[in-house]
Amino acid sequence: MEPIRNRDSDARAAQPRPAGSRAERDLEVQRPEGLYCPPGDFFIDPWRPVERAVITHAHADHARAGHRRYVAAVDCAALMRARLGALSVHGLQWGETLPVNGVRVSLHPAGHVLGSAQVRLEAGGRVWVVSGDYKLEADASCGAAFEPLRCDVFVTESTFGLPVYRWAPQRAVFDEIDHWWQANAEAGRTSVLYCYALGKAQRVLAGVNPDIGPLLCHGAIEPINAVYRAQGIALAPTLHATRTGDPAVMRRALVLAPPSAAGSTWMRRFGTCSDAFASGWMQLRGARRRRAVDRGFVLSDHADWPGLHAAIAATGAARVVVTHGHVDTMVRWLEECGFEAQAFRTEYGDDDPDAAAPAPDREQP
Ligand SMILES: [Zn+2]
Ligand SMILES: [Zn+2]
Repeated sequence: MEPIRNRDSDARAAQPRPAGSRAERDLEVQRPEGLYCPPGDFFIDPWRPVERAVITHAHADHARAGHRRYVAAVDCAALMRARLGALSVHGLQWGETLPVNGVRVSLHPAGHVLGSAQVRLEAGGRVWVVSGDYKLEADASCGAAFEPLRCDVFVTESTFGLPVYRWAPQRAVFDEIDHWWQANAEAGRTSVLYCYALGKAQRVLAGVNPDIGPLLCHGAIEPINAVYRAQGIALAPTLHATRTGDPAVMRRALVLAPPSAAGSTWMRRFGTCSDAFASGWMQLRGARRRRAVDRGFVLSDHADWPGLHAAIAATGAARVVVTHGHVDTMVRWLEECGFEAQAFRTEYGDDDPDAAAPAPDREQP
């Protein structure tokens, strides 16, 4: 792999590192454009256009259009092209090292969605890991399971960083979905399951029992399914929901649709149906009622409270930086546990419905 170098970076990389202040030695800092690696001169998941962006995963709040050059895992690159069109992406295999201005950059599975990566940065004898979004439970639709990495500083999300969030094993959740679907099919009712189009829908397709009935997908989900299949992920066969007019098929079907389809005219074609929402937010009292759906299935692509702690402990890091979600709660908890903890203010979480539910503190009547 040809190292990437900016002008003057050779000289910079060859010199012994000056013993400057800690901020000068940090491998990741926050800038108005996004998280920035000063010695490498690149950004990770920037929210404003930059020259070079390393992308953790293809969700809209992390992978944005408008950067000049991208570095991403090969599977992530395929999803980004499907979402954002033609891009200049340098695709990396898991664990492959790309030197960028003297910083050794490698990507390692984060287990969040297909191609989701933790970014490992190594320079001057220090290792930082920027984990993006992640979950620990292995999930066939991601292709690769979360890889614990040792590091000096761990940058973590905290989307579900409250003690109330504890996930049941995913098999138990898929069994619940199967039972609901089966009962609806026997009663001649279409089952409509709202789930995020990138990641959650494919995880459901890989997890439910396709023998119960046909699987129909909304037009926002089918193109993502095609990318997953092209990247070698086995998903149950699906039909395009709007191209299936047969009422007999619809009555036994499980329809996957993005949350934005709820209450839309698109939904009318299904007649009598039972609807449900699959999200980590369904753990909260009142969340299902607010969504006005019949059922809520607690299925998240993020780590739960114990999962966040397990992931952090496994890094061996003494210092932890929290990027998004319940940042203050997590920082306080880490400090109580003896970590050196801080927050980076980021713009992640806005476009991901999985990260856009009301905070539970607003739940109280
Ligand atoms: Zn995400
Ligand atoms: Zn996120």
